[in-house]
Amino acid sequence: MTVRQRTADRATRRVLTKRDCAQCGQQLPVQMFHWLRASNSYHSYCRPCHAAYMAERYRRLSEPRKRA
Ligand SMILES: [Zn+2]
Repeated sequence: MTVRQRTADRATRRVLTKRDCAQCGQQLPVQMFHWLRASNSYHSYCRPCHAAYMAERYRRLSEPRKRA
């Protein structure tokens, strides 16, 4: 493989690198995912889903707890 082919292959792969979102199930480019430095991988939720998840989590936590 020539250097030119390898470079082209790398460029193509970067554009085509996609990931399935665990929440909405859409296949999106990795640019749409948060990078988790701690686990050295991308988040399993895409950015919109992660934002929605965080908003929901915040809403649930901010709700007053009902005592049984
Ligand atoms: Zn998603």
